[in-house]
Amino acid sequence: MNIKKLLTIAGSDSSGGAGIQADIKTFSAHKVYGMSVITAVTAQNTTGVKSVYELPVEMIRNQMESVFTDMPPDAIKTGMLSNPEIIECISEGLLRHKGSNLVVDPVMVSTSGHRLLSEDALSALKDHLFPLARVITPNIYEAEILSGGKISNKKDMVDAAMEISNKLDGWVVIKGGHLKECCDDLLYSKDEKLWLKARKINNKNTHGTGCTLSSAIASNLALGIGVKKSVFKAKRYVNSAIREGLDLGEGRGPLLHHF
Ligand code: PLP
Repeated sequence: MNIKKLLTIAGSDSSGGAGIQADIKTFSAHKVYGMSVITAVTAQNTTGVKSVYELPVEMIRNQMESVFTDMPPDAIKTGMLSNPEIIECISEGLLRHKGSNLVVDPVMVSTSGHRLLSEDALSALKDHLFPLARVITPNIYEAEILSGGKISNKKDMVDAAMEISNKLDGWVVIKGGHLKECCDDLLYSKDEKLWLKARKINNKNTHGTGCTLSSAIASNLALGIGVKKSVFKAKRYVNSAIREGLDLGEGRGPLLHHF
């Protein structure tokens, strides 16, 4: 069987709703083979992140070597990367192994408010990882940090995308889910600008939405689908996954990945 191979480089979520666990579930739903390089282990559930253990860089490098020397992935996504040393190790590995179809989800802070990326890691992310990416997927908050400007409406989203794409050859997807006026996403490259329209889904069970979107985009890229269609299909998948969302736990429950 000629199955596509996907790699997630991200943190583990003990509650299974976000991080590595959401990524692998999304890969399986797209009928691709999932592999993982774990950067950090979090103790968390639907009510929030309790603690984080960052893996030693040496162990992260060893995981990457094991995967790339035996089963080179057709696409890769990155999620929680914790600190600058981890980002540099990953960027170096991706460059050396010519990792392609890279989707970078610039995870910074969990919805519950726990930092998942140290403040001093921002320049490593921009300088080392962004230039390797085919698509990056910041939410409004992350796009504000990356662009240095406040985002209150769709015009601000375009300005931010323009600023962020200076560091990129690829595409930026700014996720509008946290906007007041709408929740449209912006798909932006230096040559093209597209809006992905969406209606707000009234459902508190959205834990792991960002992880799921970036994993769905990477899955579609691995299947040979172009960027625009990959993002459109991924958005549709995530909307259904939120609509089907699981009312598990006391807090923000997870999405349903298979439906
Ligand atoms: N935990 C891990 C390991 C993550 O990678 C992420 C997001 O990428 C989160 C938690 C945050 O998820 P949410 O903000 O949807 O709760």
